[in-house]
Amino acid sequence: MLQEFRFDGTRILDLTQAATGAGLYADDKKALKAKTDGNLEKLAVLQEKLYADGHEGLIVVLQAMDAAGKDSTIKHVMTGMNPQGVRVHPFKAPNSAELKHDYLWRVAKCLPARGEIAIFNRSHYEDCVAVRVRHLENGLGLPGRCLTGDDFFVRRYRQIVDFEKYLYENGVRMVKIFLNVSEKEQKKRFLERLNNPEKNWKFSKSDLDDRALWDDFLKAYEDAINATATACAPWYVLPADNKWFTRYLVSEILVRTLEDMDPRYPVMPAELEEEIPELVARLENE
Ligand code: ATP
Ligand code: MG
Repeated sequence: MLQEFRFDGTRILDLTQAATGAGLYADDKKALKAKTDGNLEKLAVLQEKLYADGHEGLIVVLQAMDAAGKDSTIKHVMTGMNPQGVRVHPFKAPNSAELKHDYLWRVAKCLPARGEIAIFNRSHYEDCVAVRVRHLENGLGLPGRCLTGDDFFVRRYRQIVDFEKYLYENGVRMVKIFLNVSEKEQKKRFLERLNNPEKNWKFSKSDLDDRALWDDFLKAYEDAINATATACAPWYVLPADNKWFTRYLVSEILVRTLEDMDPRYPVMPAELEEEIPELVARLENE
């Protein structure tokens, strides 16, 4: 089923046609929810193995329109994982110190060590989506030569592909997830937030400004995804109107990715293994 949502450069994404709901899979809701629970258990074991093995790191990028469920997806997949080996990094609008650097600088500071999982709540993709839609490139303080010539964003896509390939070739994998919520569902969730005192802190007026730019955002995401979908850092474009379905798919992606990474518990050195009976005896005879 995952194949349907995966983009690794072998086909083109048309985001206007991509599913936002569970569709026919809604009939399997009960079974898929049970599978999600099973996946979370598998994830706990796989993550522990990854940490113990310490050979490869993993980055999970989450991008989406507002209220698509990034935060709750993160909260959900984190259950069962050991906080020791997993870190979540939110990327907000860059502050003045970050703006004095190249855009991958703050991302580089959050790269996982081998054995760790880093979850990016937004990412370097903001630098070719939000910056493009809000026309921010001229205010980034870049020298003129960086703003002329080929298309600024086409250049950024190429830089990102190079960066992600570099990471892959150096023991860090990346999977990128776009939570595809519909305009209708976003409206519903915004209204729920506004009408609920426990949730309305999540609402910001600028969310409505971005909503007004819906088509521009969709196009910017589509272009960015098509330009950066590769076998070593694939995109998954997931329907996000039904949270149970999104959670199932995300859990499935993580399990499959970690299984593919095939982490193993380190084997005890033979000399030490030979000494096990002696060590046990020592402890027992204390
Ligand atoms: P929430 O679900 O709580 O609203 P959020 O991820 O939307 O979470 P916010 O603080 O509301 O968090 O929004 C972060 C904002 O920062 C987004 O509008 C995003 O587009 C913007 N942003 C992030 N990185 C960049 C960037 N590099 N350039 C411009 N804007 C950015
Ligand atoms: Mg927001």
